[in-house]
Amino acid sequence: MTGRRKREENARRFETDAVHAGEMRAAAEEENGSGYYPISTPIHASTTFSHQNIETTDRILGGEQPGYSYARYDNPTVAAFERAIAALESPAGDARAFAFASGMAAMHAALAAAELGPGATALAAEQLYGSTATLLVQIFGMNGVETRFVDCYDLQILERKVAELQPRAVVIETISNPLLRVADVPRIAEITRPAGAALIVDSTFTTPYLQRPLELGADIVVHSATKYLSGHGDITAGVVVAGPPFDAALEPFRKLVGGTLGPFEAWLAHRGLKTLPLRMERQCENAREISTRLAKHPKIAKVNYPSLGDHPDTEVARRVLEGAGGLVSFELDAEEADARKAAFRFLNALQLCVKAPSLGDVYTLAIHPATSSHRELSPARRERLGVKEALIRLSVGIEHPEDVIGDLEQALDTL
Ligand code: PLP
Repeated sequence: MTGRRKREENARRFETDAVHAGEMRAAAEEENGSGYYPISTPIHASTTFSHQNIETTDRILGGEQPGYSYARYDNPTVAAFERAIAALESPAGDARAFAFASGMAAMHAALAAAELGPGATALAAEQLYGSTATLLVQIFGMNGVETRFVDCYDLQILERKVAELQPRAVVIETISNPLLRVADVPRIAEITRPAGAALIVDSTFTTPYLQRPLELGADIVVHSATKYLSGHGDITAGVVVAGPPFDAALEPFRKLVGGTLGPFEAWLAHRGLKTLPLRMERQCENAREISTRLAKHPKIAKVNYPSLGDHPDTEVARRVLEGAGGLVSFELDAEEADARKAAFRFLNALQLCVKAPSLGDVYTLAIHPATSSHRELSPARRERLGVKEALIRLSVGIEHPEDVIGDLEQALDTL
């Protein structure tokens, strides 16, 4: 086995870093001087860290020496998770990761670190996660930031808007929800870089296993670690990864805003990360099989999956992703007037797939986007974005695909 992502010569492969990066074994042995060390980074459940000499505390608080003092600023368990994420997103080692209590807290820090302040414009993808769009319009809007939305899959329009609006930041997602459009991150970076706009990429749907946006020209990468990175549906967490100058700008956020990730959540997120390559590999494989089978089903009108023949971004997906992802969406073949009822009947008939508005877990999850993720939008805007009443989104898990297909088929039989 060669390892699917050999990086620089002699560098460790992604799968190996996923298991080992960030762990504190050697440091732990050195510290306790006892000749033993825990093989798993301990959960440092402590609000404060004391030192032998107050001079050490003084140097740490003054930033002259690395170390831990107060858990809102930093915590060893959280730092271990951050080092692991930084190694996976930026194997060259030129970026730092900052963990937060949720994906939204991470996105807030990323937007602020890009200096979105009074008078600045943000240019955001029309298909952006609803809460990110509302964060920009409502919270950043109160601070004098103007947000404009653009179809980021039409690069000519994007280029024109960037030239016209001179945005301070362009905010996109690697794969959109729920139609699974794939952003051409390298080409978008070719537009934003010369214009001096920070390119912020939400990579929640892809993870560094499928794409490392910093290597493709992005400036700041954001994840909801609630999803694939932790992967088991049991924590809320977020992380931002960036190199200079944005890493320095991100540094004070946890200390001053306080959206710090707790050590228990950091430990679970770090544990989840170790199986990320195995989970993503299986989820992509299952999603490909499920999408292919659903596309042939007589009660399904349309299937969206980035490697399926009729998807608009198959070429982009092949070029920028190392796998088409674990999300699939599909439209039931139902009359428009009856579409919501049909979608609810289908969802209620599921016995194995879990009805829950999240993604990236080991379980297959199913949602009705029109009444969940896109509920706040007007019917006209949902229509414009292609979020139809008959649309279902699946986040495919790691179960045996035949069991998931069997469950979907028996639910389709009720229509
Ligand atoms: N980004 C994307 C693409 C999401 O889907 C979500 C949540 O669903 C978030 C960010 C926010 O993450 P969190 O719920 O961890 O705050």
